Amino acid sequence: MPRDVSTTLQTICDEVFARNPGEVEFHQAVREVLDCLGPVLARYPEFAQNKIIRRICEPERQIIFRVPWVDDNNEVHINRGFRVEFNSALGPYKGGLRFHPSVYLGIIKFLGFEQIFKNALTGLPIGGGKGGSDFDPKGKSDGEVMRFCQSFMTELYRHLGEHTDVPAGDIGVGGREIGFLFGQYKRITNRYESGVLTGKGLDWGGSLVRTEATGYGTVYFVEEMLKARGASLEGKTSVVSGSGNVAIYTIEKVNELGGKVVACSDSNGFIHDEQGIDLDLVKLLKEVQRRRIKEYVEHRKHAKYIEKGNVWDVPCDVAFPSATENEILGKDAKTLVENGCIAVGEGANMPTTPEGVKIFLDAKIAYGPGKAANAGGVATSALEMQQNASRDSWTFEHTDQRLHEIMKNIHQACYEVADEFGSPGNYVVGANIAGFLKVARAMLGMGVI
Ligand code: GLU
Repeated sequence: MPRDVSTTLQTICDEVFARNPGEVEFHQAVREVLDCLGPVLARYPEFAQNKIIRRICEPERQIIFRVPWVDDNNEVHINRGFRVEFNSALGPYKGGLRFHPSVYLGIIKFLGFEQIFKNALTGLPIGGGKGGSDFDPKGKSDGEVMRFCQSFMTELYRHLGEHTDVPAGDIGVGGREIGFLFGQYKRITNRYESGVLTGKGLDWGGSLVRTEATGYGTVYFVEEMLKARGASLEGKTSVVSGSGNVAIYTIEKVNELGGKVVACSDSNGFIHDEQGIDLDLVKLLKEVQRRRIKEYVEHRKHAKYIEKGNVWDVPCDVAFPSATENEILGKDAKTLVENGCIAVGEGANMPTTPEGVKIFLDAKIAYGPGKAANAGGVATSALEMQQNASRDSWTFEHTDQRLHEIMKNIHQACYEVADEFGSPGNYVVGANIAGFLKVARAMLGMGVI
């Protein structure tokens, strides 16, 4: 890389870090992308001349608001709400809402920044954004969750619209929350605007496959990576972290393709079932009863529950981190590689630390970074928007086929671009450059805005 290019990138990085102090996850996400852009700036000097990277790193709009609500004991609580509308070069801001106590501006900005490139990779007309709150839905009653969602939407609604900003779910926000949010939006605006939220219920504008999409899509992406190396998931052992929506439908698709998942987890510990995870039981515990994963072993006596254990210690051929950011540390990546892991498909956003990513890339295993591998969720959200816009609803088979094609295309784009820019087999480089090029070209075409 020419010296002036690397100096420019370093200067931009320093500026972004100084302008956004303390937002460590955002810094990490920015550095990962900028580290890949040297060959792009060298080839296309117009991007630097027009300060495209500096503009991409600055959100178009950031909204922070108070969310007051009353619990079942009549106690008043105050949470903080966020929506970061990062980039609308390719379409309305699109990205989920996360309700989790760890949420602060740095988390929302990292997620929103990743979302720009992920959404670009889908090839569909969606910009990037993200939002959420430090509200903890764990242990709250349905009534409390409803009152919180109504209060949250009472502020947020003025910033949304099917052509403006279209939220969906993320950690802590599923079908129940989207229902409460949509109901309040409809009530305040007096508009049945289906396309303003995705992940809706199937009876009122939701899309088939949206629930399964992130997990299925991640597995489709891993199948493609393995296919490129003359392998497949059949007969392979997988480990999945998490036991939420992404994890559950990752397990379902791995099973369908002839693989076996032997472990999954939650924030308290993990279960190890050498006979293969009983998915119906996990669905019952997590989707219906909202229980902790440790209860699995009460029903499946031969399985083990390891409280506070590290799921990455379980040997596997393929790892699917599907819980949260920075869950695979350098030491975990080392353990996985030493145990013979040949592929990693990131269902979560940025689940591997930079040290871990380096270990996977150095070991030359098939490493599918989240912004490519888990793009099936948001891609199917865009398919939901298409159905809403045409007042249509597609069959499961048709929607799943579209999702499958999209994931194949994302894999192909990442693979080819990595090759073209001198890093064959490196999907981090491929995803970052392919996503960046789409957004940068659109921004260039629209002038300085
Ligand atoms: N939260 C998901 C993601 O990280 C989905 C966003 C959406 O469907 O808008 O991509």
